[in-house]
This record gives sequence, structure tokens and C-alpha cells, in this order.
Amino acid sequence: MITVNPNYSKLKASYLFSDIARRVKAYQDAHPGSDVIRLGIGDVTEPLPPACIAALHKAVDEMGAAATFRGYGPEQGYGFLREAIAENDFRARGADIGPDEIFVSDGAKCDTGNFQELLGNDAVVAVPDPVYPVYVDTNVMAGRTGEQKDGRYEGLVYLDGNEGNGFVPSPPETRADVAYLCFPNNPTGATATREQLSEWVAWARENKSLLLFDAAYEAFIRDPELPHSIYEIPGAREVAVEFRSFSKTAGFTGLRCAYAVVPKSLRAWMPDGSPADVRAMWTRRHTTKFNGVSYPVQRAAEAVYSPEGKAQCRALVDGYLGNAALVRETLRKRGFKCIGGDNSPYVWVSTGGEDSWSFFDRLLEKAQVVTTPGSGFGRCGEGYVRISAFNSRENVERALERMARI
Ligand code: PLP
Repeated sequence: MITVNPNYSKLKASYLFSDIARRVKAYQDAHPGSDVIRLGIGDVTEPLPPACIAALHKAVDEMGAAATFRGYGPEQGYGFLREAIAENDFRARGADIGPDEIFVSDGAKCDTGNFQELLGNDAVVAVPDPVYPVYVDTNVMAGRTGEQKDGRYEGLVYLDGNEGNGFVPSPPETRADVAYLCFPNNPTGATATREQLSEWVAWARENKSLLLFDAAYEAFIRDPELPHSIYEIPGAREVAVEFRSFSKTAGFTGLRCAYAVVPKSLRAWMPDGSPADVRAMWTRRHTTKFNGVSYPVQRAAEAVYSPEGKAQCRALVDGYLGNAALVRETLRKRGFKCIGGDNSPYVWVSTGGEDSWSFFDRLLEKAQVVTTPGSGFGRCGEGYVRISAFNSRENVERALERMARI
């Protein structure tokens, strides 16, 4: 008899985006022809930078000529891309990361989801609340949790975000072997200071724990005081893995390219207490289960680091940041408490005590604007909605105008 992984039955069905779609459809059916503006999405809306398109075209042509055709590439990524990443994303910021510590992949979703495979089954996992659900669900699938009760899984350590800590939780008092951190944060838009990240690095070093640092929204940081990478914090090379993505930096959500950084000096242990080489393990996993990102896509990613590519990506992100600033400032003037939106594409808006779904419904009914209810990201998200800046300026302006009606 073939049996299945029973942990999958512990998973809570993710109703968030299907519930949103169902409610929007019900509204549109009841109000045919209504013009609904979606500020709920976490996907980019602007086209790829011209420098990336030019690099893609050139690489596609190379693939069509015998002399320049390429088949399988190195699983970890081509040297040209890993060099460009190490130089521009790390060394230029004073972070000591080499090309051989970078693993190119087709998404930070897969990387953040897959990395837990390297950890012991009995590892105690800490996750933020509100949370990007991939961190939780992949550990549930792997059997590191008990059942779900009242919206939380037994066995996980939840790091509560709230207005008191500005949605930047401190390290837990209780044991945790691994902690997922995400800054700038999805969904709250909160960012962590150098001091706050230093506290996490010190905690991980003291407790022999591991930090899994998701920096998918790093390109939105404009405050020069804020660290872009965990490796800007001294001591992080021994205790942290970092995940980056070209999805939001350069509009690659449909093209797919990302990378994980696993330093050679990262510390973890075998069950008998002897040291484990995590980078060697990730190399083994990556080369066994992944066959590399396509050559044209890696060339397009390399173009992100060209002078034109840098300017175009900055302009792209600046456009979204302009939307976010407009949302934040307009709503603040109208008396709403807002977090994020200054170094992040997400604005986390307090409903002022109303539950997230009822606020969502009111916005849909009265303003025909779609947001994301914060409660869908965890217990601590109740009483908030996430507004995404991934849209045209025109749509954001129209949405804000209509939101004056609520
Ligand atoms: N990490 C966070 C926090 C995200 O919000 C997202 C996408 O929304 C991802 C990772 C996924 O990135 P990718 O498109 O590279 O898979």
C-alpha cells in the first residue's frame, strides 16, 4: 500500500487569495461593469528594464548559432552572474561574500522553501507573525510541527510583530534552532536597523542557531542607515543564509531568477556535535535537484548590474516607491496609522480596531478597491490590511481618491 506524507493533512488550506478573488467576483457580479482597482497584489506591473530585454535577445540569438549555443550550464549559476552578484550586491557594500558562496536559482520562493531540507527533523523553528506563508508551510510539510490550533501550529515558535516593536520582533526567550527573518518585510513593510539585526546575529551565535534572512525586497531600501544584507553585520557569515531575488528588484517575476548565499564559514552541526559543512550540503542538494536557470535569463540578470541596468532598475523601483509614499502620506493625513511604504513596496495600514475582513469588504463596497486582509498572514495581522504599491501611478491615485469615501 502506498502511503502519503501525513504532514500534508496538517496544512491549513490557504484561503487568503481565493477568498479575496471570491469576494471580488461576488461584488462584480452584483455590480456589472464596476471598475475595481487591485492594490492587493504582490506582483510587479511594469515591464522589464530595456537593458535586460537587450541581453535576453542577444542571448537567444547566441542559442541559435552553433558556435555560441549552450546546453546545460553549471547548476549553481554561470560565473559571469555570480561574479557580478558578489561584486555589486555584497563587496560594494563592504560585505565579504565570494562568487563561490552564491547559488543562482529560479526563485526565492523555492530557495526559502527548500532550505529547511538541510536541517534536522527535530530543529525548533521560529517564524515571524505576520509571516510570508512559505516559511511555515514548508516546515509543516517536513513534519517539524504538530497540528494547527487556533491558527497556529504546535511546535513552532512565533515571533509576534506589533505596534510595540514596530513589527520587528526581538529574538525569542525560548529555544529556537532556526529563525526566519524578512526585511524589508512582506507583508508589513517594516525594515530592521543595524542594531536590530546585530541583536539577531548575537543571539544566533550565542545559541548555535541559524538565521534564514529573506532580502527579496532589498532594492526598496533608500535610507542610507539601513543594512541591505545580513552580511553587513559583523559575525553574520557564521550564522546566516541570505535569499535574494530579481523578481521585485528588476521585474523578473515572470522571467524567474534569484539566488541564495551560503557562506563557507556557516556553522551547523551533525547530530553527534561534529561540524557540518552547510555550503557543501547545499551544493549537493542544488546539483542533485536543480539543473540551473536558463542561459538567456542569467544574461538578463547580469544586465541588471550594467550601468544602464542599474539606472533602469532604480527608476523602476523608484516608481513603485513613489506610489507607496503617496499611499502612506494620504492615508496618514486621513488619520490611519501606517507602517512601511518608505523602504518597501508594502504599506501596512491599521484598520483602527475593525477586523481585517470587514475593513476589506467596506473598501470593496464603498471604494471598489481591493487590499489584502492582514489576518491572512497570521494572528498578529488581525486589524490591518496590506496595500501594495505594485500598480500604475494613475490607478493608485484613483484608488486613494475613492478611499476618501470610507
Ligand atoms: N520572499 C518574499 C518575502 C516574497 O514576498 C516573495 C514574493 O512575493 C518571494 C520571496 C518570492 O520571490 P521569487 O519570485 O523570487 O520566488
